[in-house]
Amino acid sequence: MNLYSTNSKSQYVGLKKAVLNSYPKDKGLYMPSRIDRLPDSFLKKIKEYSIEQIAFELSRHLFKEVISDQDLESICSTAINFPAPVVALNDQLNSLELFHGPSLAFKDFGARYMAQLMSYFLKGDKQELTILVATSGDTGGAVASGFLGVPGIRVVILYPKDRVSPLQERQLTTLGQNIHTCQIDGSFDDCQRLVKTAFLDFDLSQKFNLGSANSINIARLIPQTFYYFEALKQLDLSKKNYFCVPSGNFGNLTAGVIAHKMGLNVDGFIAATNLNNVVPEFLKSGKYQTKESISTISNAMDVGAPSNFVRLMDLFDGDLKKFRSSMHGYYFDDSSTLEEMKDLYQRFNYVADPHGAVGFLAAKEFLKKSDSDTCITILETAHPCKFDDVVFKALGLEIDMPDRVKSLFEKEMEFSSLPKSFEKFKEYLLSNSF
Ligand SMILES: *Cc1c(COP(=O)(O)O)cnc(C)c1O
Repeated sequence: MNLYSTNSKSQYVGLKKAVLNSYPKDKGLYMPSRIDRLPDSFLKKIKEYSIEQIAFELSRHLFKEVISDQDLESICSTAINFPAPVVALNDQLNSLELFHGPSLAFKDFGARYMAQLMSYFLKGDKQELTILVATSGDTGGAVASGFLGVPGIRVVILYPKDRVSPLQERQLTTLGQNIHTCQIDGSFDDCQRLVKTAFLDFDLSQKFNLGSANSINIARLIPQTFYYFEALKQLDLSKKNYFCVPSGNFGNLTAGVIAHKMGLNVDGFIAATNLNNVVPEFLKSGKYQTKESISTISNAMDVGAPSNFVRLMDLFDGDLKKFRSSMHGYYFDDSSTLEEMKDLYQRFNYVADPHGAVGFLAAKEFLKKSDSDTCITILETAHPCKFDDVVFKALGLEIDMPDRVKSLFEKEMEFSSLPKSFEKFKEYLLSNSF
């Protein structure tokens, strides 16, 4: 499979380059040159496949010219080794729980698969790849655990001191092995600046093979198509099925549209956002207007300029009509989100996280004008315990953490404390003391 940049469709690169570089030079985003329909033999029998097997079949469909079956099998079974169950709340509402991975968010799918694919492409290279990641909390946890113990790669994570939650801090600092963590006395923007400056630094690029685990990497997007098929397998296909996706950068929804092209048999998608509503506004008015981001309780969706919008435009051939025929958009404020969390708990005894709750709001809005045979599957993107303060505010409830994260609180935290000065960060990297 080759890939083109959304900014220059005539120039192709191979998968290895797209995965190791993340960004095309022309500032577009990489897209697969072809997205063919999966074989009917697979689609008809999908109920017989496990999630690892679905991951493998889709990977083979896309990458068979580049990576052998045996290697793809090993990549998929290592990366996609946790379930994605569909939980029915009633006849018309399902929750697709994507939080059963190690960092308790759907980002585990993308981060773990990207780590395996990068490691595969680096095999035989003498020099280790050093990945630098700045995180405001969530992405760092998925990336750190995704790369843990992956050969040929070490990771340096920068996070802002006192600005991540206690659970997030544990997830970033207790892994050890090839994961190194710097607590920066500054903001997330300071962390990001240190990383960006490091990439431009001559001495560092001489000494290290530096890489990034950017969220727009195509290797993070592709594995997000897997769970749409895993969900499909669990749905009643005699109904009109829709997926509702709580969205920020729109990677998740873009993966859904790619899955649709590969033969995902659903009637459409619903884009749900908080007040950062650029895409729902676009669907309504036809005008795409990015904004400064607004801070909300569903903060992983606080994005004023969604990076994957160009990929969506590309998939719909820049045609607003096509866009509107497969996608509906809704947005909601924080007080509605808190009310919805309460309502879901009271009616279904279901504890949703604030991102999922935005999805449920959109689904209910859509159901108001739909037939009774419509069923909506909401992507529940994070475990509610990751947002326990919001859950407490909405429900007055302390929720338990799964055992696998509880045990992080018994482990020693290890990190280097650094000021926000680039010289000090550079010294830290060059001293190679990690
Ligand atoms: C990242 C994230 C989102 C937004 O996903 P996009 O692919 O950027 O649209 C939603 N919910 C949670 C919990 C997230 O971590």
